Amino acid sequence: MRIGFGYDIHRLKEGIPLVLGGVNIPSDRGCVAHSDGDVLLHALMDAMLGGAGLRDIGWHFPDSSDEYKGIDSRKLLVRVNNIISEAGFRVGNIDTTILLEKPKIKDLIPQMQQVLSSLLDIAPARIGIKAGTNEGVGEIGQGQAIAAWAVVLLEEK
Ligand SMILES: [Zn+2]
Repeated sequence: MRIGFGYDIHRLKEGIPLVLGGVNIPSDRGCVAHSDGDVLLHALMDAMLGGAGLRDIGWHFPDSSDEYKGIDSRKLLVRVNNIISEAGFRVGNIDTTILLEKPKIKDLIPQMQQVLSSLLDIAPARIGIKAGTNEGVGEIGQGQAIAAWAVVLLEEK
């Protein structure tokens, strides 16, 4: 088996939608990005690709390409799952942490688990999603950014 790790951060801006783990989050601000800015899925995809030794999402889906402008990151996650599957791996389990000052997202975590469960075809119990604040410290603490970390166990098929 293999272990993969991923990290992502996006700047927040008022008046754009916030999407985390494939779920629309009620918020006055969202992530500035070439895609839909789903920081959790981006960290997760980097962990999956990294664990398989297959570079990162920027290499597979360059932000210079119009093909990926505003793209739903769930579509990219399915593609990444296919890429690692072709390389002989499947996801064993996932653990992630999201740091954001607001809004509180703990009630939406089961929904995110369901989304990831159906996209990756693994049980929700194999998907860890934790959310916390940055205790008011730095850009994340001031509500200017959201960051996410992901660790993935890949099993050989
Ligand atoms: Zn990103």
